[in-house]
Amino acid sequence: MSLDGTYDDGNIFAKILRGEAPAVRVFEDSHVLSFMDVFPQAKGHCLVIPKHSTARNFLEEAPEVIGPLMLAVQRVARATRAALDPDGLMITTFNGAASGQTVYHLHVHIIPRWDGVPLGRHGGGMADMEELKALAAQIAAKVA
Ligand code: AMP
Repeated sequence: MSLDGTYDDGNIFAKILRGEAPAVRVFEDSHVLSFMDVFPQAKGHCLVIPKHSTARNFLEEAPEVIGPLMLAVQRVARATRAALDPDGLMITTFNGAASGQTVYHLHVHIIPRWDGVPLGRHGGGMADMEELKALAAQIAAKVA
């Protein structure tokens, strides 16, 4: 899929938002939902998505959605730091297939990094669900 296209409401994140697919939830408010990435590139890798959006990527999103989205990203990133004590965090969006995007509902990745620990493959192995739930609870407990 290219940068341009039509929003498909059958995408997995739309299904999660409608309650049709499961997610290990970290945080939500009226604007956003944050949940653990099931194919994490690092321990604590989570996503933040806008709830009321048909933007396929960051470039398409309305300014009034970007504001609350990025404020929530900062909140969850700070909580992730407080919970897991990483040495750094990647905060990123992939826009278009050429960049590595695979799900076409705007989402922001928060990926904690530790010195000397290589980044896992994008779309690599599936996480253990119990481990993901424990990490989500740790991060959620630090959301301020
Ligand atoms: P992107 O490649 O930027 O579109 O990112 C999509 C991300 O969603 C990838 O990191 C996937 O591991 C992740 N992902 C795909 N399906 C699910 C799901 N059902 N629950 C949580 N994360 C998912």
